Amino acid sequence: LRQGLDKTRRSILNQLKAIVGQGPLNQAAVTEIEALLLQADVGVEATDFIINALQTKLREEVTAPEEAIAYLKKILRDMLDAPSIASHKTSFTPEKETLNIWLITGVNGAGKTTTIGKIAHLGQKSGYKCLIGAADTFRAAAVEQVKVWGSRSGVEVIANPGKNTDPAAVVFDAIAAAQSRQTELLLVDTAGRLQNKKNLMDELGKIRRIIDKKAPNAKVESLLVLDATLGQNGLRQAEVFSQAAQLSGVVLTKLDGTAKGGVALAVVQQLGLPIRFIGAGEGIEDLRPFSSYEFVEALLS
Ligand code: GDP
Repeated sequence: LRQGLDKTRRSILNQLKAIVGQGPLNQAAVTEIEALLLQADVGVEATDFIINALQTKLREEVTAPEEAIAYLKKILRDMLDAPSIASHKTSFTPEKETLNIWLITGVNGAGKTTTIGKIAHLGQKSGYKCLIGAADTFRAAAVEQVKVWGSRSGVEVIANPGKNTDPAAVVFDAIAAAQSRQTELLLVDTAGRLQNKKNLMDELGKIRRIIDKKAPNAKVESLLVLDATLGQNGLRQAEVFSQAAQLSGVVLTKLDGTAKGGVALAVVQQLGLPIRFIGAGEGIEDLRPFSSYEFVEALLS
């Protein structure tokens, strides 16, 4: 993870650490911190929050540099943890011997297929019986791509072979298959078309209704896959999805390719959603359940 966050750390956060470590914050230091956080795509809201918290603590007291940095880390950790604490969720928590259904959504290119493959692999490795439902039927290639990922980790993919391209029908079949196999984690690849919010809402709504009807006791999660390299622009996408999809969390991908890793803080602060996983590479193992401690240490150590 430290390696994955190299770019963000090197370009911005090392400097931040240096300034915060200098002691009491004068106006010049505050301005500098503000600029650095915004550059890391932390966003205006989260930046204000961090600066206020820092100022309250550091304005008058003379604080040892290590203490100031420890305090900064604590502010960031508390911010990142806030929504997870609210929902009592930690990072990789499918319930054993229960059907967990995770709907995975996100715009094309965000890394949705890759993420499904990685989560399936992690689930399988962690001893869960996994299955994938290929319900992003709009893109013909998507189904094939999901199958490739499924075969990499030995997870079966339920897709609709016929001409009926109704995603809800695929979800129905996938739930039926999951129930007969005592699957514990069913990952459903859902549409990510943003051009028309109403369509997206209708489609995701229909999928939810099928789940409620056919698997009323399933534990349902709805995760948005978000490309961290988009920084603040990605956040606007996320807002549209959160209006359409009753999201329960975010998977932040491509953190390895960006200096905009600060967007994690913006996601949490602005959307109030926990980050559940982070992707930092193209390989099957390059996904980690999110830990605020690990994340902040990787940024600021
Ligand atoms: P989808 O269109 O949302 O299903 O996106 P894909 O899963 O096909 O991914 C799009 C591209 O992003 C592919 O080239 C992936 O290898 C790449 N990708 C996905 N996740 C990551 C990541 O965490 N890090 C990096 N560097 N690349 C990623």
